[in-house]
Amino acid sequence: MKPGIKVSLLLFIAVFILSGSAFAAPQPIKAVATIFPLADLVRQIGGNRVKVMTLLTSGMSEHTFEPTPAQIRQVAEVALYVRVGAGMDSWGDKLLAAAKRPPVIVTATQGITLLSVAEQDLMPEAGGRAHQHEGDDPHVWLDPILVRDYIVPKITAALVSLSPGDAGFFKANGLRFANELTSLDREMRGRIKSLSRHDFIALHGAWHYLGKRYGLRQIAAVEPFPGKEPSAKYIAALVTMARKRGVVTIFAEPQLSAKTANVLASELKGQVLLLDPLGGETMPGRNSYPALMRYNLSVIFRGMK
Ligand SMILES: [Zn+2]
Repeated sequence: MKPGIKVSLLLFIAVFILSGSAFAAPQPIKAVATIFPLADLVRQIGGNRVKVMTLLTSGMSEHTFEPTPAQIRQVAEVALYVRVGAGMDSWGDKLLAAAKRPPVIVTATQGITLLSVAEQDLMPEAGGRAHQHEGDDPHVWLDPILVRDYIVPKITAALVSLSPGDAGFFKANGLRFANELTSLDREMRGRIKSLSRHDFIALHGAWHYLGKRYGLRQIAAVEPFPGKEPSAKYIAALVTMARKRGVVTIFAEPQLSAKTANVLASELKGQVLLLDPLGGETMPGRNSYPALMRYNLSVIFRGMK
């Protein structure tokens, strides 16, 4: 055999094998979610037919994040983009301009009757004003029932539209995961019912949907503007309010500084515990949506029993 023929034969075989394997195992759908909990929902429903990435770097706040230039490349070939909406993660929307083709977009808050931020985090005693994201409270993913009834169906429908041949697989996963959320809800309801306290103070206004679902009340945010230290006057009003309501535990969060929470806790001779609205793939015990919520449940239980 002449060397030229040998090379072209090899090339032919290589192309044959590559295209053959492409038919046998189709490329997974590329998806990007702005925060880890939403990425995990995509993974739960999409299984191995989806490759999902998270834009928010682990350890960063969802309110003060700025995407890096390297993340633009991640978004360029994405087919599905999942965001919270309500103004919270518009930092991710900036990257959409880099997408080669417009992706299918799922907005978690869409279709949900949102709580109003201004009503909750207002502390008239301290002259407090509305939260950073004025208007609508975006933290819907921290209520498992809103996730089950609104976000899971939207992600399932988006995946089906992107790969109709996998509809049965996605729908079966969606159903299985919805059942898992129903048990999670039952577990949370049962344990929270037995708590003696119902009022709490947390670092930022993330827990109103969870509170509304399970009969708890976040009476104030330590940082009404996430990432910005509150005024001395505001802290003084918080201390007065906490004493009046018998609050001794301040829930801080790993993504925000606990400095003010520590000051508050020592004033109240109380404690600081860490709730986590985000979790992450590399955080044992918080590396899936159900695990993250069970982690938060155990912290709430410890802080409010
Ligand atoms: Zn938040």
